This record gives sequence, C-alpha cells and structure tokens, in this order.
Amino acid sequence: MGTFSRNVPSRVSGRRRYHGFFMGVSKSAVDRVRSAVDIIDVVREHVPTLKRVGSRWRGLCPFHNERTPSFYVNPDLGLWHCFGACQEGGDVFKFLMKLENLSFPEALQQMAARVGIQIDWEKTHDHTTQETRDKERYLNLLEQAAAFYQTALQERLEADTARRFLSDRRIKPASMAKFRVGYVPRQSGFLDHALHKGVPIEDILKTGLAARSEKTGRYHDPLMGRVVFPIQDIYGRIIGFGGRTLDEGEGIPKYINSPETVLYSKSRHLFGLFHAKNTLRDQHQAVLVEGYMDVIGCHQAGLTGVVALLGTAFTKDQALLLKRFVQEVVLLFDPDEAGVRASSRSAEILLQSDLFVRIARLPAGKDPDELILEQGTGALQAVLQSAEDVMDFWLAQAAAQSGRFQGLHEKIRQAEGLLDLLREVPNEILRHEWLRKISSKLGLDESALKKELRKKTPGGTRPPVDKGSHASGPAIPGAEEELLQLLCSHPEIWPEVHFDADVFQDERCAVFFRKLQSQWSATQSLHVSDALNEMSEADRGWMSRLVMEEKQFENPQETLSQLMKRLLDWKARRRLGYLEKEVLAMVEGRVPRDEAKLAEYTQLTKILKGKPEISGPH
Ligand SMILES: [Zn+2]
Repeated sequence: MGTFSRNVPSRVSGRRRYHGFFMGVSKSAVDRVRSAVDIIDVVREHVPTLKRVGSRWRGLCPFHNERTPSFYVNPDLGLWHCFGACQEGGDVFKFLMKLENLSFPEALQQMAARVGIQIDWEKTHDHTTQETRDKERYLNLLEQAAAFYQTALQERLEADTARRFLSDRRIKPASMAKFRVGYVPRQSGFLDHALHKGVPIEDILKTGLAARSEKTGRYHDPLMGRVVFPIQDIYGRIIGFGGRTLDEGEGIPKYINSPETVLYSKSRHLFGLFHAKNTLRDQHQAVLVEGYMDVIGCHQAGLTGVVALLGTAFTKDQALLLKRFVQEVVLLFDPDEAGVRASSRSAEILLQSDLFVRIARLPAGKDPDELILEQGTGALQAVLQSAEDVMDFWLAQAAAQSGRFQGLHEKIRQAEGLLDLLREVPNEILRHEWLRKISSKLGLDESALKKELRKKTPGGTRPPVDKGSHASGPAIPGAEEELLQLLCSHPEIWPEVHFDADVFQDERCAVFFRKLQSQWSATQSLHVSDALNEMSEADRGWMSRLVMEEKQFENPQETLSQLMKRLLDWKARRRLGYLEKEVLAMVEGRVPRDEAKLAEYTQLTKILKGKPEISGPH
C-alpha cells in the first residue's frame, strides 16, 4: 500500500496556524518529523535529475516544464525553491502538498509514517481540515468497495462469466490480487452493503460508487455487471474504478470509468503507475498502452514499466507526471488509423514536455495483451525494441500519404506540417537532428528549412516553453535583502547585530528580521524553515528565494558592518526628511514649536551634512 498509512488525520485540530491550516499537532512534532526526514531523498523520488551542486542540489522543476534546471534544494536549511517559472519554495511538507495536492495534515502524516514517528491527532471541528477528513472517508469507502468487488469476483455465482473472461485472457490469480481486479455484482451489491452499514448516500455518491437514475430516481452502481480494475494514485490509494463489460452487445461501451470526483481525475492519473513507478525510475523509460488489460498482461509477463491512459486522450498533466520518473516514453498503440492519430497527438504533448518519444508498431489488429498470449513475451519485447524515433514515424506517415513525396508542392506542404511539430520541441539538439532528417528525406535544402523554421517560431529559435526569467536568478538587489541573506547564512555573526527591525524600510524584510531575531534570542540558533512557514503566503516565495540564493560572503564581519552602516545612514536620512517637513511646518506656524524635534534636526543635519550619501537600500 505504499508509504501512505490509512488511519490518517481523520481527527485533526486547530490551535496553531501552519501553512494556512489550523491543526492540533504540536510544533515540536512537526519539527521532529521535518528534521527526521531527508528532504533530498524525498525530492529525488520525484525529481530524478536532482544533482549536487556545491552545498545545494539542483534539478528540473517538477512543477513546471523546463530544460535548464532551476529547482534547488538546500538540505541544511530543509528548503527548496524554484527560481524558474514557479518562483515558489518551502519545506518538505510544502513540496508534497504542491506535488500531490495534499493538505498539510496529509503531507505531515505521510512523512511521519516514512520516518516512523507517531502523530497525535486531536479532535477538531474546524472547517479547514474538513476537506482532509472528507477525502479520508472517501478513500476508506473506495478501499472497502475494492475489497467487496474482489470478494465478489471470487465467490459470487453471477461472477462466473467474469472469472471465465479473466481465465480466457490468462490473467493469473497473482496478477488479479496485485491489481485488485474485482467484479461488481448486480444483486446485493456494495451500495446495499454500505447503506446497510450506515454509510450516508452522499458519501457513496461523492466517490462515484453510486449514481442516480434519471428515469426511476433510484440509486445504482454504474459499473454493475462489469469486471473492475481499481485506479490507484501513485501511493496505491484507490481513487476510482474502470469497468469492462462482459456483455458484447450493441451500443454497450466496452469500458466505463468512475465519474470525476475530488479524488479522481482521468486527465491527471495513469493506470498502473503505482506498480510501474520503481521500474520507470530504474529504466528512465515508460511504455504507454491503451488498455488496462494490456497493463496487467505486460506486468504479468515481466514488463513492469507499462502504464495506460484512463480512457481519454493524453494530457499535459499526464506528461508531467511521467516526467517525474522517466526521460523517454514509448507509445504502444494499435496500428489502425485511430491508433496512429492518438499516438501522434500524444507524441506532440510528450515532446512539448521535453520527453523523448518513440513509437512501437504492433502487428495489425493486435493488442499488446493478445500478442503476449499468442506469441509470448519475446514478441512484444521485439516490438518495443524496434520502436522508432517519432520523427521517422512521422516521415513515414507523410511519405505514405503523399505517395513518396511526388511533386515539389506536396513536399513543401509536408515539410510545413513537420516544421510545425518541430517548433514545439524544446530540445535544440533534437530539433537540429530532425531538421536534417526532414531535409534528407524530402530532398529539400536544410538551410532553407532552417530559415523557414525560424520564421514562424516566436522569438526566433526556440519556443518559450520555460517562461522562467532567470535560470538561477540575478542576485536580489538591495542592502536590506543582502543583510538578511548574510544573517541566515552566517548565524555566527548574530552576537554583533546591534540594531532593530526599524532599520528596514521594506516591511517584509522587517517582519522576516523580527522572526529571526526572536529565534536567535530564544535559542541562540536559527530555524529558517520555521520562519518561512510563519510568513504570509504571499511572501513565502520571496523569502525562500532570498535564502536559497546562497550568496557567498567572503568577509561576513566586514559585510555586516558595511551593510549596517548603510542601513543606519538611510534610516537617519529618512528621519531627517521627516523632520525637515516638521520644522518647515513649525516655521510656518502650522504646528506648535517642538524643541526636541528642532534639536534632533540640527544634530542630524550636522552629522549628515557634507557626508556623501550611501547608495540607497533599493
Ligand atoms: Zn518551477
């Protein structure tokens, strides 16, 4: 069942604000979990490109598409930050929340289970955790349904056809258990069972386990009479079902999936990913097939890097999901017209996400599953090994369509179509290679094609896939921010800090400084990720960027005194500016004379007069 424990935060409570959630877990428990978890280990599971660069780790951001790594992790601070399009950062909990769309309690629970720490969840009634509790209830319900369907497949008389269907397809009991294949009975099904046990109908509807008939107004299980394949998220939690009919009659859809729910979205998950993910990570390659039976058949035959779509066209979200594990995707589709079109479209989306794509052609009319059944695993392996580069596939398609490129007009028309595809490819080397291929195959001049390619590409050469303005970012300007960076990276200089937050003109700098200052005075140490979590949501990205930039200070003491001088000078000038207006008002008789202010004004003028202005804080 993965690392996710089932008895999660059904009871969570509110006392302290954290990540915008109120919760009853003590701060020390959160700290304990955070310091026990190796953030590098966790992030690396989802960012295979993560590599050490100095004291930080860098990789391709899992939250946006990019080719130049701008995602950094600092294990000492326990923080990550994307300097690219996201401009966001945080601790390990924030990472999981964003990646898996988890609530804070869920992320905390997951990490606690990982490092074997028990969390005491308190009772609560506040609404921020309501969603978490709802999700947890739905997950439990889906889990119960899966177990119910599995038992029904084994034991019910009416499941006879289902059992025969599966044995005809030579699905072994071990595979049925692994993928938790089941049968949805027509009589006394899960709906009755759950209602009888007191589960509210709203919950059953919310999970898609029941639907209401518009004609009769009665509730029923939409997958009734079907063999069901549970759809799992990457942690192995069941979030929905795919059901195959056993009734080959006219007008009956072969497959039906659960409706979209708060847990399940057909465009954001992939069938079999939970079982495939370790293989994907090892082999850096995924095989994408069309059917659930194909996934099960392949896994059974030892090809465990295989996943399937959930009955819809391939999406960008699914491409990003795969990109977390692999660099290359092999598309294994039917060689019929619909299959070719689907694989072409999927290939485009994968290429845009900067994944390499190859196309494997099955013998006509064969599913991967059927091929294994009839000719053995070796036959499918041979098909996968002969998978061709997607551009070769496209060129062959184009050649077939235009009768081997007769006539210049036809060649140009085909070339334009291929250049359109090329423009979407972020990888420069790949674009270059493909351009050569197109040129030689179509017999058109390469440099002319190159010009043509540039012509329509916005901005000249490459499409703006990564809008991230700066790969590792220019240094944040400003003495105030620099001072904060210095104080975070050189805690040893804190004893020499003799100023207050009011030297900062920028309000968020002042807030951040106050947090660090109170940490230091309480514990003589800094906990930057704590301070980060206490900042307002809007300022967290700014702050994690600030501390993750890791500016190098050759002489921290010297820098501290210089920055302090600058900030104090600026503070004095700000004060002088204010006093000037006050004095003017006094002179003009608009306000009563204030001797103290006059004296301060005279003194400040003396100090600052003739003194060159130190460049401002921003
Ligand atoms: Zn990013």
